[in-house]
Amino acid sequence: MRLSKLASEIAESPTLALNEEARLLRERGEAVIHLGIGEPKNKTPIAAILSSAAKLTSGEVKYTPADGTPSMKKAVIRYTEENYNRLVAPENVIITNGAKQSLFNIFYSILNPQDEVIVLAPYWVSYPEIIKMCYGKPVIVTPGDGTFIPTFGEIEAAVTGYTRAIIVNSPNNPSGAIYPAELIQKIVEFCERKGIYMVCDDIYHKLVFDRMVAHPAYEFTQKDIEDSHIIVVNGVAKVYGMTGFRVGWVVGPRELVRVMTNVTAQTTSGVSGVSQAAAEGALNGLQAVVEAIRLQIENNRAVLLQEMKTFNGARLITPSGTFYALPDLRAFNGNSVELCRFLLKRALVVTVPGKEFGMEGHIRLSISGTVKDVTEGIARIKWALDPTSPNEIYIGDKKMIRDWL
Ligand code: PMP
Repeated sequence: MRLSKLASEIAESPTLALNEEARLLRERGEAVIHLGIGEPKNKTPIAAILSSAAKLTSGEVKYTPADGTPSMKKAVIRYTEENYNRLVAPENVIITNGAKQSLFNIFYSILNPQDEVIVLAPYWVSYPEIIKMCYGKPVIVTPGDGTFIPTFGEIEAAVTGYTRAIIVNSPNNPSGAIYPAELIQKIVEFCERKGIYMVCDDIYHKLVFDRMVAHPAYEFTQKDIEDSHIIVVNGVAKVYGMTGFRVGWVVGPRELVRVMTNVTAQTTSGVSGVSQAAAEGALNGLQAVVEAIRLQIENNRAVLLQEMKTFNGARLITPSGTFYALPDLRAFNGNSVELCRFLLKRALVVTVPGKEFGMEGHIRLSISGTVKDVTEGIARIKWALDPTSPNEIYIGDKKMIRDWL
């Protein structure tokens, strides 16, 4: 079959293969624990349910404007004012089908073939693939000091005449790292000086621990949004646990939003009005739901840190936000794909190989599930890998004996 070379080269989502294997195991009645999926377990916030239900019962579910419904845009403008201290115009906002479409449309709208985008490792798996789909070239910058935060010098050294953007995701998926304010400031100033876009994927911005703050890029520029090179991506998936509604948004210069609107109009059209109504409900409703998610995850992180203390050989940089952790398990196996397969087969725990995030030798654990998932999941991983851990464990109602170490 003849297919597009570009499309054929796009990597499979790494979680899909493992998820499928896990699903088959579950179907056979095996007690699989999922530390792979990145979504909070909360029910949809009631304000979102009521708002979308009202839209649905109106029976008026038609095409929406390609850049978003006026009321959803208004909710985003208010959100931007409250959380970013920036007053933006409706022309600076576009609502998208999740933050994923935001990112795709941004890169589709700013890149010419062969333009480069700086991606900071560890990075969210989809960035390089999205950039490639938009005919761009991802340029990966990996921290040389073994941490999860590259230095400004490392970033600067990767910039060439072809660089069009730097993408910054803080708090970071998969490491949970929050970039220091000084680094954000330096990137903002550098991008403005060089005329490069700074794409800020802020999808986890409120999921932070220990009273830390993920400083928004806007804090470090006096420039008007039209002149600053900052593009902010956000959405309701993580902070409100509304992954299934598929609503994200972009705040950026008018000209970019205009082009993105045309791209949206000629591809997907506007996001479903029912989903936008739900997102609007969430943004305008009681914000205690966000704090509830944050607290639940902070509690899970405490459990994770406690369990990791007795995991000999594993090294973990404490995550400061998101619901992920990226332990270094090179002491057991430097090949993270093999390691994740092994953990699924022996311990029935789903994890994601760090290789997919540009951090080979690490695995990503999602702690967005229950305390029981986190406790049992880590206990099983320790049992499977660490020879100093007890060599018997219950997996479901089966007593398992480790006989491979
Ligand atoms: N950016 C990052 C860093 C993410 O982790 C995710 C979801 N995994 C997204 C964007 C996409 O979010 P959405 O579900 O709104 O498309």
